Amino acid sequence: MNKTYKHYIKNFLGLILLLVKIFIPYRKRQILSIYFHNPSPIVFERVIRYLTKKGYKFTPLNQFEEVIRTKKLDQKIAVITIDDGFRNNLNLLDIIKKYNVYTTIFVTTSAIEEGNFWFEFVGDKGQSKETITREKIRLKKLDENSFAIEINNLKAKTHLFRTALTEQELIELTTNPLIAIESHTVTHPSMPYISENAQRKELLNSKIILEKLTNKEVNYFAYPMGDYTERLKILAKESGYRLCFSCETIPIELNKLDVFSIPRRCVNDDAGYYEALSKVYGIWDYVKNKISKSE
Ligand SMILES: [Zn+2]
Repeated sequence: MNKTYKHYIKNFLGLILLLVKIFIPYRKRQILSIYFHNPSPIVFERVIRYLTKKGYKFTPLNQFEEVIRTKKLDQKIAVITIDDGFRNNLNLLDIIKKYNVYTTIFVTTSAIEEGNFWFEFVGDKGQSKETITREKIRLKKLDENSFAIEINNLKAKTHLFRTALTEQELIELTTNPLIAIESHTVTHPSMPYISENAQRKELLNSKIILEKLTNKEVNYFAYPMGDYTERLKILAKESGYRLCFSCETIPIELNKLDVFSIPRRCVNDDAGYYEALSKVYGIWDYVKNKISKSE
């Protein structure tokens, strides 16, 4: 299907879902936990402007941690996080300032050092999106040694321009009172597929590298691709993290929240307005999960 055509279809679907949502009981006090990767300023601003209009208060993670601890919430809050550490995130700074958006960037440290993320090396221009996705899934299921061999081969034959923040840019970001830098591992593996020794290294070394770079404590962690296990939650705690974020799209309920797998809803980089909003409210994934369960 043509890309633009697909974009319009998905956006129209988003609109339908939002209209359906009107018939679902609306809870006034609620927490929205939303994350982006490499959004265009247009996609980012339309979500932020909407949440601002709806009265959500953008809340930094240290305040969110306090809300979780006290279980006290007297207004609607939105927790905004951005995964990976793309250089294009710098284009969002004006919007972040304009709407006073406390934002956490979960950074993959090897990409900062080397310039790119492993998944950018996968696939050729001629391949379909589905083929590339299948290949990424195959790679992420390898153990750390096989994974490193395959990715190093891909890196050796592909030249990419830097897409990740540089160390200097990262350091400058830490002077912005609205931005926090937290951990998203060293190499962005799917953590359940690597050995426990490698898991510990990913958790600890990323923390050490970022704390040294930013001169600030790193207390929060986002699982790459949202993949985690019960054992990983324990290792994350042992590594000194206080909150860990997954990619589950269920609503956040303070009385039964697991701080080592806090749900987040993803707004994809190319989302249209209505598609983005139906994802923010969780209705998109709710319907998608229902459909895939019935198949
Ligand atoms: Zn990621």
